Amino acid sequence: MPVSYFAPENVEKFRALLQTAKRAAVVTHHNPDGDAIGTSLALAQALKRLEIDTTIIVPNPFPEFLHWMEGVKDILIYKHGHALPKQLLSEADLLFCVDLNALSRMDALGKFIDTLSAPRVMIDHHLQPELKDFTIAFSDPGACSSAETLYHLIKDLDLLPHLDRTIAESIYTGIMTDTNGFRHNCSRPEVFYIIAELLQYGIDKDKIYSAVYNSYSDNRMRLLGYALNKMVVLPEYRTAYIALTKEEIASFHFQPGDTEGFVNYPLQIKDIVFSVFMSENQENIRISFRSRGRFSVNEFARRHFDGGGHLNAAGGISRLTVEEAVANFLQSIKQYKDELAAV
Ligand code: MN
Repeated sequence: MPVSYFAPENVEKFRALLQTAKRAAVVTHHNPDGDAIGTSLALAQALKRLEIDTTIIVPNPFPEFLHWMEGVKDILIYKHGHALPKQLLSEADLLFCVDLNALSRMDALGKFIDTLSAPRVMIDHHLQPELKDFTIAFSDPGACSSAETLYHLIKDLDLLPHLDRTIAESIYTGIMTDTNGFRHNCSRPEVFYIIAELLQYGIDKDKIYSAVYNSYSDNRMRLLGYALNKMVVLPEYRTAYIALTKEEIASFHFQPGDTEGFVNYPLQIKDIVFSVFMSENQENIRISFRSRGRFSVNEFARRHFDGGGHLNAAGGISRLTVEEAVANFLQSIKQYKDELAAV
């Protein structure tokens, strides 16, 4: 089992911090997904068993398809002018940053955390972590999800109280969503050993699947139809992209999470190996990148769109108009023609 991913001195330091901690806060990235929420909930449950008073605080609302999860009603959303999340963060003697590799992935919440002196423990699986942002980093870029990283902390290192049905359900949800239903990023055999064990805690995998993937609104399905119609295919680059303006998105009564997964669809086209989805919001444009094979969207997102992530899945940002961001993308992709042809 991959306990060696974590430096022994980190493990000891963490053990010591847990012994003295009384209040903890768990935070995660902007636009929290199933892994961010699942890992946060599982961690909070485990910490509560240690009688550490724990609150989860997220940068912005998370999708409705995660609202069924046990403990979500206690999650706070960090907003300017709201005193409670700031107070709880300031009072915490231990801060956990899950499913993110840098404080900048949390926007304003990250900036606030940067002003706090409590030790920060990162539990993550993204490439190239900003280690200087954290006191202790449990970073395993080979893991399919942060939920898997947390599982190893609980199970192999015995750092946190053992699994139960609720924790197993949250970890399962993190793994299932980050692998897109066990389709990507889970070639490491231990993922399936972990799943086998989680099932032994009596979780209902079909119920979880349905709660996450069969609970969309009709507006979301129509927005997906619209987006797929608008998709542009660039056969010479084996690439397809979709770019939506905030007006287009608003006209489908957008709810958080409605565009989750859109970026995966273009990869279903034969010979397409690079997919890009841009969605504009009030402040900027969030961009998702997906690829097949060795084409690194982590590198592409880092170099051109102020982002990063994993080899085949990454995110980025643009502060231009949608039209300009698309023009930028079309310019940037030119230098990758040979690389994309070779995938
Ligand atoms: Mn993740």
